[in-house]
This record gives sequence, C-alpha cells and structure tokens, in this order.
Amino acid sequence: MRSDFLRHIAQTSPEPDGFEVSRGEGIYLYDQAGNAYIDGISGIAVSSLGHRHPHIITAILEQLDLHLHTHVYGEHIVSPQIKLARRLAELLPENLSATYFTNSGAEAVEGALKLARKYTSRYEIIACRHSYHGSTAGAESLRSDQEHTTALRPLVPGIKHIDFNSIEDLERISKKTAAVIMEPVQGEAGVILPEENYLAAVKMKCRDMGALLILDEIQTGMGRSGKLWAFEHSHVEPDILLLAKAFGGGLPLGAFISSHDIMHVLSHNPVLGHLTTFGGNALCCASSLAAIEVTIDNDLAGKAIGKGKKIQESLCLHHLVREVRGTGLMLAIDLHHKEDLPKAINACRKEGLLVDWFLFNQNSIRLYPPLIISDDEVDLLIEKIQNALNSIAE
Ligand code: PLP
Repeated sequence: MRSDFLRHIAQTSPEPDGFEVSRGEGIYLYDQAGNAYIDGISGIAVSSLGHRHPHIITAILEQLDLHLHTHVYGEHIVSPQIKLARRLAELLPENLSATYFTNSGAEAVEGALKLARKYTSRYEIIACRHSYHGSTAGAESLRSDQEHTTALRPLVPGIKHIDFNSIEDLERISKKTAAVIMEPVQGEAGVILPEENYLAAVKMKCRDMGALLILDEIQTGMGRSGKLWAFEHSHVEPDILLLAKAFGGGLPLGAFISSHDIMHVLSHNPVLGHLTTFGGNALCCASSLAAIEVTIDNDLAGKAIGKGKKIQESLCLHHLVREVRGTGLMLAIDLHHKEDLPKAINACRKEGLLVDWFLFNQNSIRLYPPLIISDDEVDLLIEKIQNALNSIAE
C-alpha cells in the first residue's frame, strides 16, 4: 500500500503523514496493525462526530436505498436538499435563508466571490493575511504568502490584504470593495481569536461602504468553536456564510448561504450564474442533516467549551508550552521552541494520538478532537499529550 501510495497518488509534499488507515470507530482511527489512535485532527475539523456515527450511517443507508445523483444542482427538487436548506434557514439569522450547495469549501468560496462581485458590481475583495480559503485559483489568490502564490501568477485581480484584528487596516475597505472575506477565528494562522468588537467593527465598516461581509466558517462551523456558528460569539451576522468540512457529516458538502435578494443575481441577467453537477448531492445532504441534528440534540457545541477549557488549563502548565489558544475544541498548543513541533507530533503518535500542524504557524500543534469525545476520553487525551511532551523534554 505504501509504495503504491507514493507511486500512484499524486503527492502534495515530500513528507506525507503516511498513516495507514484500516478503520475508524468513535474518536479512534486504527492502523493496519490494529493499533488504536485518538483522532486529534478529525480530518482537519471534518469528523466532528467521530467515525461511523450510527445516526450518520442510518441516514446515508436510508438515502442510498432511495436514489443517488439525479440531475445537476438546482434543477430537480431533491428532498434531502430541501430538508437541509429549510433546517439551515431555521438555525441561521433571517438574512441567511437561501443556500447554494457545493462539493467543497473552496467551491463555496468561489461561489461567494462571484456572488459578491455580481451583486455589488465591484471587483475588489479584501482578505486577511495568513488566511486559508482553499486551493482553487480564486481561493488561492486570497492567500497572502507570496512564496506560495508567485508561481501561480497572474492571480485573480483585485485582491487586497489586511491584518486580522487590525482596526487601522479597516480603512482599506472602501466604496470600491465588493466584499471582505475572513474567518471568524483564523484556523491555519494557528487559531487566532478575534479581539473584542473586532468583527463588529468589520461589519460596521462593510455596511458603511456598501461592501458584503463573507464569513468563512468552513473550519469553525458545526459546533467546533463552542457555538453552532462561530459568528454567534460576537453577534455579527455575515452577508454570506460559508460552510464545508464537518457540514457534510463526513461526506463532501459545502455551501454559501445568503439572502434571497443577494442570491437572486445568480439566477438572473444572465441566468445560470453558478453551476455544479454534484453540489448538494442527495447522500451528502442526508448525512449533513443527520450531523446537524446529532450536534444540536447532544449540545456538542456547548459541551465543547468545557472540554476545550479543561485541555487548555491542563496543558498550559507544561514547561514546553507557551500557551494553549483556542475556543471550544479548536485548539493550538503553542510551544516555546519550533524545533520541538515535529518531535512533539511524532511523540504523540507513539502515545497513540494523531495531531498535526498549521499552514501558517510553525510553533503550534493542531488539536481538533471530535466533539463527541467524552470527559474520560478528554482526560486520556491530556495524559497522552503530557506523556509525549515529557518524552521529548527528557
Ligand atoms: N476555508 C477554510 C477556513 C479552510 O480551512 C479550508 C480547508 O482547509 C477551506 C476553506 C477549503 O475547503 P476545501 O478543502 O473543502 O476546499
């Protein structure tokens, strides 16, 4: 398997993680030898309900018995899609009542950028430095690290960058700005929280300038941050909301969600403003609806706050750790020395815990365990990290 993986799977780095998965159950992933590992990554904020959650499996099987793909997005009336869109409208503020389903997060980003440009008749987009919004050409153009984007030039034009949490930088938002796109908590920067009133100031500036606010909740959504949607922490409602990752309950599904008034521009003048074949696939929507219900019925978002706090309070005491940042179960264990990061990740693996790193932060361990983790399992996870850190400190 390993040699065929290297030969036939197009590689994205010279050093892939290379964990050989045999199966998953609850918060655990098992390797080919049958060893169990706590999944502390959740497929990067996807497997929030762990692996093989019975409700998700039932929902998928029921839909499997009815039908899979029937037509491209937006033509047929497909009941799992309608039920999901209706449920989202109940769970979101009134202005977020029209959902466009996509296959992935990046496709939701692309759709939102097009929507904002068409609605405002402006082309400038403002994004935050050290944000990651996906790897398609438009989403990638939002990246601020030129080392990465230089080889891809020319990028999509009209993109400017601001620093997350800089009130001063908000002056860059002007009457030329179609939209500001940002994550309510920056993920790949290493879990950077917004300062108090920052998001409200962004929203106010957007409103004054007639620009749309796009909040990318692809990592933070579905309870990961300790609220169902992270924008609830700051009571700032976006004009366009982006979802993906955990949204599909383990199957590929994304969405950009806005008001009917804004979405109207995709179906008129000209028609067919954004198309997708598989977006809103029936199986993925059935899985997503089950994931939403499990998350809400078990208050997984609310419980994530206490569990996250316990992890933060325990691990910040370790002498190799500078701080543990985060919200809910979206955590970054920031180490004093960046040389310790690969050692710590390897040591966690030896302890039976999968964790990884962030794109734009060289000092922090990513810790995104499934939200279904029990209190006892939280204790075990803490113990494993403490043991791992002790082993590299020796
Ligand atoms: N936005 C954020 C905040 C992400 O973390 C990601 C993926 O990591 C994306 C967008 C892109 O999503 P996808 O990989 O589904 O295209």
